[in-house]
This record gives sequence, structure tokens and C-alpha cells, in this order.
Amino acid sequence: MIVILKQGITPQEKDKVRSFLSEKGFIVKEIVGQQDTVLGAVGKVSIDPRTVELMPGVSSVVPISKPYKLASREMKKEDTIVQVGKVKIGGNRVAVIAGPCAVENYDQIMTIAESVREAGAVMLRGGAFKPRTSPYAFQGLGEEGLKLLRKAGDAFDMPITTEVVSPSDVQMMAGYVDMFQIGARNMQNFELLKEVGKTGMPVLLKRGLSATIEEWLMAAEYLMASGTDQVVLCERGIRTFEKATRNTLDCSAIPVVQKLTHLPVIGDPSHATGIRDMVAPMSLAIIASGASGVIVEVHNCPEKALSDGPQSLYPSQFKKLVHDIQALCPVVGKSLEKIPRVLPQSMKTQKEEKAADMSSVVVAFQGVRGAFSELAARRSFDEDVSLLPCHTFAETFDAVSSGKAKYGVLPVENTLGGTVYDTLDLLAMHPELTVIGEQQVRVMHNLIVVPGTKMEDIKKVYSHPQGIQQCRAFLEKELPNAVSIPFFDTAGAVEYIAKLGDKSVAAIAGAPAAHYYGMEILRQGIETNASNYTRFYILSREENAELFRSQAELNKAALSFSVSDEPGALMDVLKLIADYGVNMTKLESRPIPGKPWEYLFFVELQLPADNDKFDKLVSEIKEKTTSFRILGVYTSVIG
Ligand code: PEP
Ligand code: MN
Repeated sequence: MIVILKQGITPQEKDKVRSFLSEKGFIVKEIVGQQDTVLGAVGKVSIDPRTVELMPGVSSVVPISKPYKLASREMKKEDTIVQVGKVKIGGNRVAVIAGPCAVENYDQIMTIAESVREAGAVMLRGGAFKPRTSPYAFQGLGEEGLKLLRKAGDAFDMPITTEVVSPSDVQMMAGYVDMFQIGARNMQNFELLKEVGKTGMPVLLKRGLSATIEEWLMAAEYLMASGTDQVVLCERGIRTFEKATRNTLDCSAIPVVQKLTHLPVIGDPSHATGIRDMVAPMSLAIIASGASGVIVEVHNCPEKALSDGPQSLYPSQFKKLVHDIQALCPVVGKSLEKIPRVLPQSMKTQKEEKAADMSSVVVAFQGVRGAFSELAARRSFDEDVSLLPCHTFAETFDAVSSGKAKYGVLPVENTLGGTVYDTLDLLAMHPELTVIGEQQVRVMHNLIVVPGTKMEDIKKVYSHPQGIQQCRAFLEKELPNAVSIPFFDTAGAVEYIAKLGDKSVAAIAGAPAAHYYGMEILRQGIETNASNYTRFYILSREENAELFRSQAELNKAALSFSVSDEPGALMDVLKLIADYGVNMTKLESRPIPGKPWEYLFFVELQLPADNDKFDKLVSEIKEKTTSFRILGVYTSVIG
């Protein structure tokens, strides 16, 4: 049962409820949600819920209808985010785990670790204990394999996961691994589940070969009841009558499971298909189905692999796959998890300092709560940072400039609306700020209403003029008699209709705004053109930039400059860029305030791999320009 606590419960009252339940024989877990704090009480015993309901500080008691309790969504509404070393799985991230089926030798695991890390994997896999169908097949290197896997993980800064097959190995393995893997064949090995659960460590729980979703969740329940709340589910294909693939990938299980449990779910396209060529398309299907990641087998020489060679990707195929996954991420409203994803501050600090540190990091964004800019900020930073909504672009810049916020997130371009000039103009006025990163958000519009509203109730629709414009076809067809009213911002329009509480008005905005203001989405994805993305700059003062930059591979630069008013002056600069073989990805010109008919040019470049080349290009550009500034050198997350 779920014991929902009152907001104002005192620590003493809470302790009383806890000990009452424990004494009755329940396992008690406290779950702090966004809205409520609850105590989950599970166990063999049963009591009259009213005895708990009457205790001081208790708001209500709700029974859990499902046989799995701790794992159920009823128990916890928010997604669980599983932390494995520096890597997080769940929420709006897509984590890519990769590595060979089995660890074979030092060179093999090192080579593969280096290539998967380089391509974008955040965690390394590799079996040391292999539960093979045939007793004559390679059984894995055992503890020696664990040592090699640990070495490779440490060398390339990736947490590691490997399969545990025997309860008696659990303690020994806990010293090496970051996440246990429970294989499909062992999903219902309850003694193993209990032993692994007791460690409290993260667990990747594969779905059994012929397990129903409920059986799979019951296995997760075993782990949770034994002591871990860090469980990641993994759909890896089930047995069906079909023989064309090794198993049948059950993609539909992914959204089903996400409804039933708060635990993150990922997919394993390698064991699901057993065929190399099917791995990439099925990986994309897994992500499109809403999973929080994939676990993929990669081998530097699959022909010689001691196990599962035919389903292992070549490193080059894996690299391409990560690119494709990255391109798909914004479509499903997620970002590719990176090592380390959490930028600045938290990186240099030890784990124990981290939580305190992150909440003192303030990130400013333009707009009200629920705005697309907030989504961009959330995607770029740890969930623990403090967000500061700012009314205008100028206020957002000022917040970062004055030190009130450490970082700022501002839109710079939309694929349909073009450049956001405010951001470029303000950047020109703030030489103390620098671009340290980039984020992309898919703009998906929804018709948002006061709960219970029907289409025929709607007489007015509020949104930002761009929102109205982008949904014109929908409005004309579905709401021909409603009046469209421009509003200063999309999420602001939702806040406004929430205040009115009137069923005759609707708003067009993103889903986060509907959730934030407790409104209902009546129609989803109503934009005419689905390829609608906004790109954001992440800004900071120069002194905060270095840490951020040192965390990832830099691949983009933004510059601004002006040239003298003579024939070919701009072309000379562009020609230099071309002669250096550097790819220019954006060119924009803006009038310089106070200097009629003079322009500042903004250029974005793909950063050449060779640093010297970029430095030389910059010094040559400086000679040909009347003013020059590097706006930022950063990591582009856009595929
Ligand atoms: C594996 O991941 O190598 C493995 C054996 O997977 P499964 O348990 O899903 O068959
Ligand atoms: Mn395998």
C-alpha cells in the first residue's frame, strides 16, 4: 500500500508511521515525489488501512492493485533515474551501452572500449561468465575477464556492466562492476535476484526468453524488495514461432512497461535479432518506441569473436548508429547521454559534494515555466540545478552577466522561423559572455485546454504568433470558428488559460507547459510541418567556460566580425575559410547600432580536428577584418 503523507508532517510523526509499519512486518520505502512524499509499504502481512490513515501526518492510504508493488507506477509517478557511476539512465536521456558479447583478452577489450567510447557509448559491456546454450561453447574468462573489463572501463572512463550467473559470485563481482546484468536465462533465478538486490547496486534486468511483462516486473520486484532501487529493464527479444531472427524484438513492450513501472527500460537489438544487419534499424525502433537506451554488441573483428560474432557490429557501423540515434533523439524529446553529461561544476567535485553543488548552480532561461527554453535547459544540465525563468532576452543575458546565474540558455535559430536576432544582438553587446554549448529541442505543438474541455467548447486560441502560424492548417480545419489571439509566448499562453479556467479558451504550446500548469492536451502534434526544431546556445561568463569546455570533444566555433566597406571584403574572409577547408554552417549579418549601414557578421564553423589549423585561420581572419571576436568554441550536439 501507499501511505501518502501530509505536506506538514513532522519528522517525529513520520518516524512513528515508519516504525508502526516496520513492526507489522512491512518493508517500508520513502519516495519523495514532485508533489507528494509517500511511504511505500510492502510485505506478506495485511492490515486494515484505516489504522494507518488515522495516524497523525498521514493524508491517505491507497492500496496497490498490481502484484508488483515497489516497481509499479502507482507507487511512484516520476521516472526513476538510475545512476551508474557518472552515467544516468532514464528520464529524457538516451544512453548507449556497447561492447563485445564476451571479454576475450586484453587487446580485444581495450580496442573495443576505445572505439565504442569514441563513437559515443557511455557504458561498456562484456561478458565474463557466459551462460551458453552449449556446454562446449566458450564460457567466458571468469574473474580474469572482470579484471580486464574493469581496466578497460577505467582506461576509457566508462562504467561497466557484465552478467552475473551465480549467487555465490555476487560479492566477488561487486568489487569489479558498476552494474550487474541479469541475463534472460536467469530472469527468474530468484536466489540470484535476491543476492544481487542485497548489494543495493544498479542492475540491468533482461527480459526472460518467454517471460510475460508481468513476470518480468515481478523479477524487478524481487530485486527491489531485496534492497536495490536502481533497476534498468531490458527488452531483448522473446521466443516466438518466427525463425528468421534469433528472437522477436517486442518493441510494444517498451511503452507498455513504461506505463506500468517507473523504472527505465532499454532494448538489446543484438540478442533480439541475432543478425548484424538488423541491429541498427532495430536500435532506432527501440529508441522510437520510447526506450531510455540500447545495449549493443560491438566487436573489432566479429569473424573471430568467441561468441555472438554474427550479431556484433563493426566499430564503423556502431559509429554510424550512434549518429543516427543522436539524430532521432530530438524527435522523441530526448538527448543522447554523454560522459559526463553534467556539465561544469559537478565534474570537478566528488560525489558527496555533488548534490549540494548542483542546486547552487543557477541556469537562466528566457520565458515562463514550461517554455521550450526550459526544456532545453533541462536537457543540458543535471536535474538538480536551479532554474531561473527570465521575462526577456535582455534579462536573461543580464542574469548571467551579473553572476546571478552561472549559465544562460537562449534560442538562436528555428528551422522554420530562422535566426533569433535578439540573441545574436545581445551577444554582440555582451563581450564578457561566451557560447559554451548548444542544445536542440523539437518544437511539437499541442492544443492545450482546461481539463474536461471539448473541441466544440473552444472559441479562442492563444499562442505566440509563430505557434499560431505553425498550426494554421490544423486551426483552419478543426477550429474554423475559433479566433486566434497572439500572446507573448507559448507557455505564457498556457499559464494564462490556466488562470482563466475557462473552457472557451485554449492555448497552443509544448507538452511541458501543459503538465506544469495542470492543463490537458486535447490534440497532440498539431504543427503543419513536423521538422520544427529550435537550436539554443548555452552561455556563461568566460571564467566559467573552461571547465565546461574541458569535458567533451569540441567540434564547433562561432565567430563575429566586421569588415571595411570595400569590394570583396566579406568574400576575402569567406574565401579564407574555404581555402582552409573548413566547413561554414551558418552566416548571418546584423546592423551595428549607431553605425548606419554597417554590419556585424556571424559565422559558425565546424572546428577542424587540428587546433593549429583553427588558430592560423583565426589569425588570418583577424588581418582581414576591422573587428573580430570568437563567440565560443563548443560541442555541438546536433547530429
Ligand atoms: C548477453 O547480453 O551477452 C546475453 C547473454 O544476453 P541475454 O541474457 O539477453 O541472452
Ligand atoms: Mn551475446
